[in-house]
Amino acid sequence: MKRADKSSHTVEREFGGTLGAVCIPVFLPLTVLFLIGVSRTPSASLFQWPPPFPSSEQLWHPLVPVLLLGWIGLHALLYLLPLGKMSEGLELKNKTRLKYPINGFHAMCISVGLILLLLKLGAPLGRLFELLPPLAVCAIVLSFFFSVFLYARSFSVPSDALAPGGNTGNHLYDFFIGRELNPRIQDFDLKYFCELRPGLIGWVVINLGLLMKEAELQGSPSLAMVLVNGFQLLYVGDALWNEEAVLSTMDIVHDGFGFMLVFGDLVWVPFTYSLQAAFLVVHPQSLSWFGAAVIIALNGIGYYIFRSSNSQKNQFRRDPNHPKVSKLKTIPTASGKKLLVSGWWGFVRHPNYLGDLLMALAWSLPCGFSNLLPYFYVIYFTILLIHREARDDRQCKIKYGASWDSYCKQVPYRIFPYIY
Ligand code: NDP
Repeated sequence: MKRADKSSHTVEREFGGTLGAVCIPVFLPLTVLFLIGVSRTPSASLFQWPPPFPSSEQLWHPLVPVLLLGWIGLHALLYLLPLGKMSEGLELKNKTRLKYPINGFHAMCISVGLILLLLKLGAPLGRLFELLPPLAVCAIVLSFFFSVFLYARSFSVPSDALAPGGNTGNHLYDFFIGRELNPRIQDFDLKYFCELRPGLIGWVVINLGLLMKEAELQGSPSLAMVLVNGFQLLYVGDALWNEEAVLSTMDIVHDGFGFMLVFGDLVWVPFTYSLQAAFLVVHPQSLSWFGAAVIIALNGIGYYIFRSSNSQKNQFRRDPNHPKVSKLKTIPTASGKKLLVSGWWGFVRHPNYLGDLLMALAWSLPCGFSNLLPYFYVIYFTILLIHREARDDRQCKIKYGASWDSYCKQVPYRIFPYIY
């Protein structure tokens, strides 16, 4: 018997169960600080001993809590502005649907506009380079406090507001995996807010700060730095432009809001996804125009696969009779929903992951081949997406039973055609 059918206290545990729930919250914050430390050593080697953690003086700066809380406060304010439309999420267990503001792209444009204005007024954005370690520490501390708050408040909500996998009764595991599905303070949805705003837009701003730092040191930003900034800005802009699509993702529909997502959104994304830019500040790379053209083409192919496959599925789920998707081959399922077996979703079972990984590779290549560190993202992301694919496969098997088996038979490769 699988997860959805089990009582909440015997639910199948993910991420290594209780052991994972104890080790991951210790190990991941240390990993973030370690990676930032490595990125600014001359060798940038991941295999240095002792590990080059930032020194204790580098871990605290009085300005940092103000910056971090100010940034989150600004985004909370932008979230509440009556900009963009309101959209409904998927149906909940209690047959209701929550409403969400679709104004993340506006929030990005306004906040990046404000940063550019500050830059024009002479704000030293390059200082973000020195402030990265204390900012990361402050975000880590905040993510622990916030997760404790979320866990505590989850005991005051009705049982149908809990996530299917987050109510095992084991405090450590439930704290880690997330107990409440959609924690809200009135209409303010805390999980949805954190998914795509302070951390994701923060990543772009950190990148810009690192570009400014490189320009200070070298006289102008390098081609490699411009590519890394441009590619990642495109990725974040795309996610926010298509913000509505997040409403049907595993994170929103299935996962509770606990340490795993809080830390991922507020710490892991901004501070490890900006590693390539951080590496380039201390390890400038020369990149030929030909090399840049090849990397741009790779990013373009990845983006095309990622965007068109995600859009195809979203369109199909919203309106299967839409002319863009109505000709695609499908198989019926007992739930009434259909599964696509042609188009992108007939090519591999997760074409969107394939596109995402090609882009991840394109973000690392401008950093050259002398170090492993800039490839940390693509390596970690491959592992994350293989694991995520396995989680989704399990959930789809529960949802669709024999129809899912039939889909897997017709589309045998999961992510990489003819490989995996
Ligand atoms: P997906 O968008 O891949 O959605 C998976 C769901 O799609 C399944 O549960 C199923 O849900 C539906 N589905 C699967 N196969 C079919 C089919 N053949 N026909 C129709 N529907 C199908 O999930 P994710 O949330 O994992 O990924 C969303 C995007 O976010 C991806 O592009 C991914 O690369 C990206 N991502 C990025 C991360 C980052 O850190 N940069 C982290 C995680 C994801 P149902 O049938 O219920 O609709």
